[in-house]
Amino acid sequence: MPKYPEDLQNLIAALKKLPGIGSKTAERFAFEFINWGSDELTHFGGLLAQIRNKIPPCTTCGCLTQLGQCQFCDSRLRDGHSLCILASARDVYSIEETRAFRGLYHVVEHLLSPLDGRYAAELRVDRIESRIHENQVQEVIIAFDSTLEGDATALFLKERLTSPNVKITRLAFGLPVGSSLDHIDGGTLSRALTGRQTL
Ligand SMILES: [Zn+2]
Repeated sequence: MPKYPEDLQNLIAALKKLPGIGSKTAERFAFEFINWGSDELTHFGGLLAQIRNKIPPCTTCGCLTQLGQCQFCDSRLRDGHSLCILASARDVYSIEETRAFRGLYHVVEHLLSPLDGRYAAELRVDRIESRIHENQVQEVIIAFDSTLEGDATALFLKERLTSPNVKITRLAFGLPVGSSLDHIDGGTLSRALTGRQTL
């Protein structure tokens, strides 16, 4: 990176923390900000400064909310018998968009990752257990990514939450819609084979 003034370098370093943003893009954004009017910059800075306080996670399920309790937590409007567990509040919106799920959500703060120092205690399984009990949940759907952490956390939750009254399922990992077999990697194909369904 050229020797920019220190404050500009700090801004570039901050922008590079965003996913998918490399040095060149961060520099372009930083120089763009320099051209903005001070009103625009103040507005933008204000949005960033308030975002955590204005959209806190729902204290029950961890989804984003502006009302204290979120739009998803009212089991009179949703099917309280199924609970979908996800790793991020953003994933909730992806599931909602499918319109295929009308149950309740629960967002865990972290997936298990002992290498990064994230252990089971941070999953707060006790909170999930009490929600299962309160809502008489019959099915828990685990909707984590297919990663080492996602797999480890899914297995851990399955062992902790399994009971005679609760079925634990996980999203199927299969073939992308419209794909052909010779373009699919071995891992995806193997998962699709394991998760095959009766026709
Ligand atoms: Zn909620």
